[in-house]
Amino acid sequence: MITINSKIYKFCPYCSKALKIKIEEFKERQWCADCNWTYYPHVASAVGAVIINNGKVLMVKREREPYKGTWMFPAGFVDYGEHPEDTLIREVKEETGLRIMEYRYFILLQAPDDPRSPGHFSIFYQVINYTGELTNNDTEENQNIQWFPINNLPSIGWESHNKVAKILISTN
Ligand SMILES: [Zn+2]
Repeated sequence: MITINSKIYKFCPYCSKALKIKIEEFKERQWCADCNWTYYPHVASAVGAVIINNGKVLMVKREREPYKGTWMFPAGFVDYGEHPEDTLIREVKEETGLRIMEYRYFILLQAPDDPRSPGHFSIFYQVINYTGELTNNDTEENQNIQWFPINNLPSIGWESHNKVAKILISTN
């Protein structure tokens, strides 16, 4: 469990009337009496890709805030309705040009340090097999893309990506 504060809304997003408070299962919930809409705070999800080849892992250097100029594993938010496995394939293709053939679940972490989407789930997969040529496809998002020896990684920003790096270092 991490400590994050959900947004407090003043008005119903559907009818614009002022929200009220109701008690549901001993919890206070913001609620619209007109629409009968209840606000359940929830977090977003992101997917990260751990791509290892010959003892080296693929990382991208951020071109944007937060953590601009630090390195991370290729990653992105899950689109609405998208399965995280589809996010993995889409994001890796978008950011690296590589086409994922085989992967396995690695770890699920929480990201308390992202002001854009506090507390989002960060789902990491390890890529077992891929094809294609490496290219920095998304220069708006990444200023660089590079393989690093697992025992000599660059400066990583995100907490969750640092945790994954520690696991890699301790298991490789
Ligand atoms: Zn309403």
